[in-house]
Amino acid sequence: MKSVNKKSSFKLFVAGGSGFIGSNFIRMMLAKYPEIQVLNFDKLTYSGNPDNLEMIAKDKRYSFVRGDVADATALRRAFISFSPDYILNCAAETHVDRSIHVGSEEFIKTNIGGVFNILELIKESGVKKYVQVSTDEVYGSLPKPHLFTETTPFAPNVPYSATKAGGDLLCRAYYFTWKVPVVVTHCSNNYGPYQYPEKLIPFFILRMLENKTLPMYGDGKNVRDWIHVDDHCRALALCLFKGKPGEVYNIGADNEMTNLQIADLILTYFKKPKSTIEFVADRPGHDRRYAIDARKIKRELGWKPSKKFAAAFKETIDWYLANPQWIERVRKKTGVFNPHIDLWKPHKLSNKKVKK
Ligand code: NAD
Repeated sequence: MKSVNKKSSFKLFVAGGSGFIGSNFIRMMLAKYPEIQVLNFDKLTYSGNPDNLEMIAKDKRYSFVRGDVADATALRRAFISFSPDYILNCAAETHVDRSIHVGSEEFIKTNIGGVFNILELIKESGVKKYVQVSTDEVYGSLPKPHLFTETTPFAPNVPYSATKAGGDLLCRAYYFTWKVPVVVTHCSNNYGPYQYPEKLIPFFILRMLENKTLPMYGDGKNVRDWIHVDDHCRALALCLFKGKPGEVYNIGADNEMTNLQIADLILTYFKKPKSTIEFVADRPGHDRRYAIDARKIKRELGWKPSKKFAAAFKETIDWYLANPQWIERVRKKTGVFNPHIDLWKPHKLSNKKVKK
């Protein structure tokens, strides 16, 4: 395959480009490749937000089709008329809590059915590479000091991760059976601008802005391995252009933090006491720890994270504070974030326990 450089002209089909990672990816690609053409195919579910791409909406290299990856006819129509060289799939139902409290049906349709429809289209096309954006959550939970490698067996514990694992396994099967040029990525938890505020970091920031408590599941000691969305997006671009078909790449920035540590950083930024944390009943199936071994993508594709966590985390909070209109529009569209979190019943851990 001819390597892609800044002068290359190519067509990129992004499914789910109006969400958090997809929109950051599209902005990055338009900034980097002057001759690119991007089609964003997005259903605009509750987490899909046209505001995330407002600044490039009139760029002649960008077009948008509102559509559902689970709708094979609509997907085929957009795909055939655009005739992409590359496909990145960010279209997904992504909130673990919703997969538990709202139901799994949409997760199955989009995260498995949508991937199936994309693979079927690629089977009969000249697409050079398809990157399926997946998650480390497919591996389940693991004790210290172990890290997830690309050969760690899948052990999903909630419907969200089970459906992501289903999509990933279809990709594997389509490569081995039909040599569909697909690469699957497993990334850890992302932070950064434009993240829908049901997710931990923007959710906590918005709670601070409303002068409310920070609801903390269980004992707050669940560990996630945080990476800035820009570092994830650079890794995805490398997978598109240099990733080996049929391969899996884990993406992570060696940055394990407990949810309590994340809450502490936010409280420090807003100069609030630790008693602002309110422990609530744990989420069913709550994985205890995720941690990524990213040596393969570093070694084989030359990727490494560029963001320093402390500075990038502060910049992220600054971004939400500097964009109240973005927050207000999201809030108007959705209303209450995470309404299932029960803040009223007494829980066995008291706030006193977090005071040092
Ligand atoms: P998001 O919820 O912010 O965005 C998802 C996007 O997909 C939205 O624009 C939504 O409208 C669109 N979409 C949903 N269903 C669709 C459908 N049926 N057809 C077309 N579009 C549809 O999610 P995100 O955080 O940007 O995640 C993107 C991908 O990255 C997901 O596959 C997720 O599993 C993966 N991932 C996310 C993280 C993270 O921390 N956010 C970490 C690792 C992997």
